[in-house]
Amino acid sequence: MSKSPDPNLKSAINGYLRRHHAEICRHWFDDIDPGEIGGGVLNLVVHDPIQLRYLQRSCAQQFTEAAQSVTGRLLAIKFVGAEEPPPGSAPSTPMLDSSARAATATLPPIEQTLLSPDYTFETFVVGPCNRLAHAAALAVGDRPGRTYNPFFVHGGVGLGKTHLLQAICQRLLRQRASTVLCYVSCATFADHFHEAVRAGTVADFRGKFRSVDVLVVDDIHFLSKRDQTQEEFFHTFNALYQAGKQLVLSSDAAPSDIPDLENRLVSRFNSGLVVRMERPCFETRVNIVRTKAELHGMAMDDTLGSFIATRVEGNVRELEGALMKIRLMASASGQPIGMDLVRESLRDHAAAPSGESQHSIQDITESVVQFFNVRLTDILGKRRHKSIALPRQVSMYLARRLTRLSLEEIGGYFGGRDHSTVLHAIRTVEIKRQSDEALSRGIATIERALGVEESVATSSPDSSGAGHQLERAG
Ligand code: ADP
Ligand code: MG
Repeated sequence: MSKSPDPNLKSAINGYLRRHHAEICRHWFDDIDPGEIGGGVLNLVVHDPIQLRYLQRSCAQQFTEAAQSVTGRLLAIKFVGAEEPPPGSAPSTPMLDSSARAATATLPPIEQTLLSPDYTFETFVVGPCNRLAHAAALAVGDRPGRTYNPFFVHGGVGLGKTHLLQAICQRLLRQRASTVLCYVSCATFADHFHEAVRAGTVADFRGKFRSVDVLVVDDIHFLSKRDQTQEEFFHTFNALYQAGKQLVLSSDAAPSDIPDLENRLVSRFNSGLVVRMERPCFETRVNIVRTKAELHGMAMDDTLGSFIATRVEGNVRELEGALMKIRLMASASGQPIGMDLVRESLRDHAAAPSGESQHSIQDITESVVQFFNVRLTDILGKRRHKSIALPRQVSMYLARRLTRLSLEEIGGYFGGRDHSTVLHAIRTVEIKRQSDEALSRGIATIERALGVEESVATSSPDSSGAGHQLERAG
């Protein structure tokens, strides 16, 4: 006899998960509906097939614990698709809405990389650093094989390449469930290939990889120096390309900059659209913090968001790491997420100043004044002249990076300006220093004068590991 669940079960389970397994929680967990309880099994209905597959693979244990704890019963849980037939009547398939089920019949049994429901276009923040890549990815997702082929996206680590590739896959599968799609990392492709060689099943391997509609290979730079796999990939590429199938590739470097990549592959990769992703600017980082906070169900106002975006200047993965640390500290200490907690959480962050007492806003302003050869009273006063405005903005920018002062506090120091003026100054300097070499060198000089440690000094966009890419951009 099955029985409908208590209407409060959903919020109880989500509450439990937030308290005990915050790291797995996502805002879309609210869309999961407890279904029937029968035979000691609680069905949890998931409406999106990609979310379903992800939950089945990654979250079953935590949900089981939550269900048992809040009901006080030794229940098992089962994630089911909205249209899935009742348990027992048919074997479950990985892609579970009814139209997708048809697709899985023809999906080659390649051990694919699991798609993360976090990595969709909806959660991808667009900014100047990735606008082109995003637009092209959308076009590929909508019209595979007919716009940019191959589509090759490259950029430094943690800049959103995998996110974008998976977003393409999810869009394709949602819009056209019959698409036969293969998403693998290049390492997985290589592993499958070597396994096939060992097992004498290369023909099968080729049959599988060459019968897809869309082949998405992440981290293709892995091909570097792997002659046999390069050869195999070359033929896979050609077979698909000639059949009008879509290829999407990501890499940490442009095709011609991947070491020991055969010329014929370089020219194939260059024959479609090659787009580079850059490090996100301040504005984009603020938007990413907001989006990620929302995804993880964290309350985060704009002041906190911009504080985090100022402190954490590295790639997006670092930004996300900082957010997770804040959440962890909040749940461990029971404190709400406010400025005190955020400051405390980010205290040891690589991009943060190493010691609060080392840099005072007075020292910073003093150094800036000396460097620009302007008067302190002018910087602190009301004058708006251009010769004063830039040094003042640089002072605010450095004060924000090197002290723990809030935007309001910094504004207060500079003649009672409000926080939006300070924010504007920080943004202006961030943008300028990316294109204005003289300014960038100037800031580095001031930082050295202040004795800023290398790790802080080199965390700026133009002198970081991504620097060689910026140079190449011309
Ligand atoms: P890459 O593959 O380039 O190393 P990832 O795609 O793994 O980088 O991104 C690292 C993290 O940063 C992921 O959690 C991803 O969601 C996030 N991320 C990167 N760029 C963006 C963006 N523009 N909007 C939202 N999240 C992003
Ligand atoms: Mg990646």
